[in-house]
Amino acid sequence: MTDKLADGLPGDDFSGPDDDDESITGKLLVPDEVQEAIRTLLRWSGEDPSREGLIDTPKRVARAWKEYCQGYGENPAAHLARQFEEVGGYQELVLLKHIPFQSHCEHHMAPITGTASIAYLPRDKVVGISKLARVLNAFSRRLQIQERLTSEVAQCIWDNLKPHGVAVVIEAQHGCMTGRGVRTPGVGMVTSRLIGTFLEDHRSRKEVLSLMGF
Ligand SMILES: [Zn+2]
Repeated sequence: MTDKLADGLPGDDFSGPDDDDESITGKLLVPDEVQEAIRTLLRWSGEDPSREGLIDTPKRVARAWKEYCQGYGENPAAHLARQFEEVGGYQELVLLKHIPFQSHCEHHMAPITGTASIAYLPRDKVVGISKLARVLNAFSRRLQIQERLTSEVAQCIWDNLKPHGVAVVIEAQHGCMTGRGVRTPGVGMVTSRLIGTFLEDHRSRKEVLSLMGF
């Protein structure tokens, strides 16, 4: 009985080599020249792009890259457009801790995986807390360097929410370091961008960094 169920799992029909006929699946159409570019890279890497396992790889890689780079189609500031003034006199910092993210480095197009902690000290307005993660995503789903990602997220919150202070700390591992080059798995890189009160006031800075776990 169990076997029969397993045999008939929904989705099985779609996992074969025909799974990306664009007209049926509605998946993004990948132009031939893009597929050819990926085949060229496969050949360059020592592979045979015509072998069975790699037949649909160019399409999959191309679609995956559209997803990795979704941020190009997003205006990060738009996530901060809806602001709430009714904060009940709350004047302390707001912190979203250890938000996982994935990005790709612009030098090797290798994955960057890490977490970000984002804090701000509201002046008179706050945003829905998930919006901070959305801003992070809009910037991380592009080709990046960690330093720029950190400051872009901080600057976007600073410009659009106009708080007293913003602090962004990112810890990440870089595929171009762990999987190639010096090959140092487990080594994380930390970058921070502090603006306003968090930069100028020693006590605020200490408080936010210690709440973030530093
Ligand atoms: Zn790199």
